[in-house]
Amino acid sequence: MKGNLEQLYRQVIMDHYKNPRNKGLVDSEDYNNIHYKNPSCGDDITVQFKINNAGIIEDIKHDGTGCSICCSSASVMSTLLKGKHQDEALRLMQNFFNMMQGAELKNMDEMEDAVAYTGVAQFPARIKCATLSWKALESGIKGNGDGVEE
Ligand code: ZN
Repeated sequence: MKGNLEQLYRQVIMDHYKNPRNKGLVDSEDYNNIHYKNPSCGDDITVQFKINNAGIIEDIKHDGTGCSICCSSASVMSTLLKGKHQDEALRLMQNFFNMMQGAELKNMDEMEDAVAYTGVAQFPARIKCATLSWKALESGIKGNGDGVEE
């Protein structure tokens, strides 16, 4: 990766870390709650989402504590996937997981700020940090997640 690009990606991550989008949970039965932990790093994230009858993810919220990679990634995930159809969201999440395995995506533009995490693939210990909130939402949408990922 070129130095300038790496610097740009770091700025994107720090921006989402310092000014997280969609942060803060709401107290509403319209939302599903998924709580995920990454004990190896100490990340602890709750993701909330609301899907309407047409399958559109109307809202995504997140809150919790963790490292800059984890917290910023939750913000990026929420901005990318909010307003998308759940099928489209699942596809983009799979793209992100593939990216974390070092795969080159055909269409990087559609990943928006999530491209900033390309470099994380080189640091296996941090992959879980980057994917934690994404895995939480994925399991929530698929309806098989209600707890702690070890
Ligand atoms: Zn972490």
